Amino acid sequence: DLANRMAEKAADLVKALFKMGMMVTINQTIDQDTAELLVTEFGHNIQRVNDSDVDIDTASDVDADATLKPRAPVVTIMGHVDHGKTSLLDALRGTDVVRGEAGGITQHIGAYQIKTKGGDYITFLDTPGHEAFTEMRMRGANVTDIVILVVAADDGLMPQTVEAINHTKAAGVPMIVAITKSDKPEANPQKIRERLLEHEVIVEEMSGDVQDVEVSAKTGMGLDTLIEKILLQAELLELKANPDRAAEATVIEAKLDKGKGPLATVLVRRGTLKVGDIFVVGTQSGRVRAMLDDKGRQVKAAGPSLPVEVLGIGGVPMAGDTLTVVENEGRAREVAAYRQEKATAKRTTSAPTSVDTMFSALKAKENVIEYPVVIKADVQGSTEAIVNALTRLSTDEIKVRVLNSGVGAITEGDVTLAQATGAPIIGFNVRPNAKARELIERNKVRLKYHDVIYQLTDEIAREMAGELGPER
Ligand code: GDP
Repeated sequence: DLANRMAEKAADLVKALFKMGMMVTINQTIDQDTAELLVTEFGHNIQRVNDSDVDIDTASDVDADATLKPRAPVVTIMGHVDHGKTSLLDALRGTDVVRGEAGGITQHIGAYQIKTKGGDYITFLDTPGHEAFTEMRMRGANVTDIVILVVAADDGLMPQTVEAINHTKAAGVPMIVAITKSDKPEANPQKIRERLLEHEVIVEEMSGDVQDVEVSAKTGMGLDTLIEKILLQAELLELKANPDRAAEATVIEAKLDKGKGPLATVLVRRGTLKVGDIFVVGTQSGRVRAMLDDKGRQVKAAGPSLPVEVLGIGGVPMAGDTLTVVENEGRAREVAAYRQEKATAKRTTSAPTSVDTMFSALKAKENVIEYPVVIKADVQGSTEAIVNALTRLSTDEIKVRVLNSGVGAITEGDVTLAQATGAPIIGFNVRPNAKARELIERNKVRLKYHDVIYQLTDEIAREMAGELGPER
């Protein structure tokens, strides 16, 4: 690339680098200082290209106070498995007065918004659990304003409850405790309030400042109070955004639909997203062809805190990516191309650049065992969460190597890849297609189905420990 831009022969550049003591190959990425030295060596002028010259800089683009208007709070429900997160989400969805009137069909797009009896709006993220929450946060997407911590009145504090508390605290997001299944005769909410003290969650009844409410998804008990408490918390937070500007939204989840192409549910952070808007999202660009809300209705415009499914993206973006509306297609393509180039460069920069480092890298490699995997999941968010969770299992001795990761059914391609390297295929809420299944059986490729991330990571961690052998 550099040779091309200077209209020089690539081989000459490599030769020059060898003379400088750098053993490089033709498509290796070199650092900026080396590139500058090389450009001067060849008698050309240096022109620095910064991120801010090409990419969109949203951080410095702050809205004036006068433009800000109140927006609906965005709520995430977390808690231990089986404590009633899904039931609560469904019950809260049922309180939506709009849905009551129009009798809309529920579309699971990853988030939904309700209109309360009092006319206020609340947005709920529809993927319960803290994995998605933490994954989004790791990608710099803090979309949640309020966390509802679900604890079953008949069960008490469990490992995932504690994890959820820790994740919420780490994010600095206010929490409301919902004591679920309070209709059950064996419910003991007081015990839960006391146990929460051990984790420095002091609810109002214990003269703390964390709101708590006893609810039942089964009888509807406490739902109105919960909604009131969410609105009260939202008021304290003074949530505001400027609706009258080019839209900026966060991808909640994304997938490839056979008929409709790439789809992404986005949550508008500021501005108003309109049909026809041209945008960049992660390394993809596109134009809003249509938008659907969680009731399956077409919407022409989406303002702050409204989740919508967007059609018209060039490829599947990643959960946590920011969608930014830009002035024209040329700009959208330029930014997307620049980001793609940067992403590719990042993947190849780890190559050693001098003989010494090259040898030490080789040596290190000899002692490292690789654990290869192929990952397929139903939605992009899960794929990413799994890749990140597994990558974190890597140690100095054994490294997880993701050969391929993607969204959709397990295909022949996945099987061949796994077979060639002895890797297992991980199917998260997805199954192989007929051809792939045949290949899997014929070649005895290992297939692992999972639908809970931590169970998957536990299993892989055990296998990795086994690979290392007992002597370590
Ligand atoms: P999740 O794993 O946290 O999403 O939990 P679910 O919503 O799937 O609920 C787990 C089980 O608890 C299901 O069998 C529900 O029917 C039951 N459940 C959830 N909420 C309530 C409730 O308020 N009262 C009663 N009696 N059962 C509930």
